[in-house]
This record gives sequence, C-alpha cells and structure tokens, in this order.
Amino acid sequence: MRTTQRDLLVTTAERLFAEHLAGEKLLTNRSIWRTFPTVRCGSWRHENVVLLGDSAHTAHFSIGSGTKLAMEDAIALADAVLSSARAAGCTTSLDLSSFEVVNASRAWLFGQFRRGIDIVFANEDEIRALFEDNSSPFDTLTRRLAGHGVLAAVKVGKDGAWIGQGEKLHRVEPRRVAEVVDTNGAGDAWAAGFLFAHLSGWPLPACGELASLMGAETVSHLGPIIPASHWPELHAVARALDPKTARG
Ligand SMILES: Cc1cc2nc3c(=O)[nH]c(=O)nc-3n(C[C@H](O)[C@H](O)[C@H](O)COP(=O)(O)OP(=O)(O)OC[C@H]3O[C@@H](n4cnc5c(N)ncnc54)[C@H](O)[C@@H]3O)c2cc1C
Repeated sequence: MRTTQRDLLVTTAERLFAEHLAGEKLLTNRSIWRTFPTVRCGSWRHENVVLLGDSAHTAHFSIGSGTKLAMEDAIALADAVLSSARAAGCTTSLDLSSFEVVNASRAWLFGQFRRGIDIVFANEDEIRALFEDNSSPFDTLTRRLAGHGVLAAVKVGKDGAWIGQGEKLHRVEPRRVAEVVDTNGAGDAWAAGFLFAHLSGWPLPACGELASLMGAETVSHLGPIIPASHWPELHAVARALDPKTARG
C-alpha cells in the first residue's frame, strides 16, 4: 500500500506524542469522528434577520471548518433569497463581486443563470474568471454571458462598458473625469445607476449612460458616498437622459 505524506505526518506525530497517547492512535482532522450536539429550532430567521455562520453554530476552534460551514450557510441563504424573489416575480440581479468569488462558485453561478437571473454585472477580471478566458475581447465575452439568457452588463474600467441582451450588443462609452481620486464603491454605484434606469423602463443605452455617470461621479471623490452638493447636478443629467422627460 502507498504511504501518503499524510500517513507519514500521522505516524511521525504518533511517535512524537507516544508518551501522551499511551498506546492510543492519533485521530486526524477529517472531522468524521466529531460528535457535536445538534441543536435544532423551528427557524433560523426572525423577520429579516437570518442566523448563519458562527452565530448559528460554533465548533471548537481546534476542529476548524467554521469557514466552510459559514460559506455553506451563505450559499443556502443566497439560493433561498433568489428562489423567493423568482417566486414573487421580482427582477433579480447578481454582481459577480470578485474573480475569487467567481473561481470559488462558478458552477453555482451557471446553475443560477439556468434557473433564471435577469441581470448579471461583471468587471474585466470577473468575466474572464467566469469563462476562464484570458484573451477574448470583452464584446465577445459579453455576448457569451448574454447567451446564458441574462442581461449582461460588463464594466471595462476606464474604457466604459458593454451591455448584451439576446443578440443585441451596446457599447457604453467611457465618461472621462478630471481626476480619479478613489475607485472605492464605483462598481456598486455603476450597478445602482443601471438598475434604477432599467427598472424605470429606460432603453439599454440610456441605462448604460446613467450607470457610467454614477461610476464617474464615485471615482471623483474620496469614499463611496456621493456628497449632497453633487446630487442636484446628477439629477439634472439623469433628467436629460430619461426618455420620458428628455422628449418633453
Ligand atoms: C483562532 C481561530 C482559528 C480558526 N481556524 C479555522 C480554520 O482553520 N478553518 C476554518 O474553517 N475555520 C477556522 N476558524 C473558524 C472561522 O474563522 C469562523 O467559523 C468563521 O470565520 C465564521 O464566519 P462568520 O462569517 O460566521 O463570522 P466572522 O468571520 O466572525 O464574521 C463576523 C463579522 O461581523 C462583524 N461584527 C460583529 N459584530 C458586529 C456589529 N455589531 N456590527 C458590525 N459588524 C459586526 C465582525 O467584526 C466580523 O467581521 C477559526 C477561528 C478562530 C478564532
């Protein structure tokens, strides 16, 4: 039988701790042997508060696996939220968040697309991670994402964005800013602008323009919060973009 590195580690540790083990075998951290009490209750939520991770269950830190359990809880929560939203007829959107999140949950994401997601937001790193493709241009990748039946909104930083829906593809021109001060929160502001416009029934190019405006605004100052004094100008631009008020 082949001796693995793990076997070697265990036998070495058994030799090292032979005196304390007093002839017993060393139990490895496969967690199969654990016998934690199981606590059950009718519901792990109250109104809009949900318990997950360490707040729902803890194990002795020598066992580990708390991160894994917390991740499994988070996945179950995301599944439940999306299923409830679909059942209620809500528009659903997913932001791919980071290339690391995509790498860790690619199969889950494609599963969600199959079950029905209306809008997917991605940046350059995230869409490359999603398709494990480091060379195709972003318009091709946007089409590919749209091919999964979602409205694809792909941000390409200072180069603007691509929006794909079915066979349609729109280029969102970048909005230049005098100085990029802090990019913190820009992606979320972009998505917020896009969602506002989309849910207001604006055509896709106008959704992209408002999203771009919000992103450009957010990178122009420190921190993600838009100063109150900037809103009147933002509202004025938004009114000009709004197809309902722009016509009148
Ligand atoms: C020393 C040690 C070693 C560990 N090693 C491992 C390991 O090897 N493998 C493993 O899988 N797990 C390990 N764990 C367990 C693992 O870290 C936890 O199970 C896991 O982080 C739980 O995730 P969580 O999101 O539930 O909680 P946390 O990661 O603790 O997140 C809770 C967050 O909420 C924030 N917070 C708390 N109260 C407030 C408040 N009032 N307002 C705003 N924010 C608040 C906290 O600052 C924190 O950021 C270890 C834990 C410890 C302590």
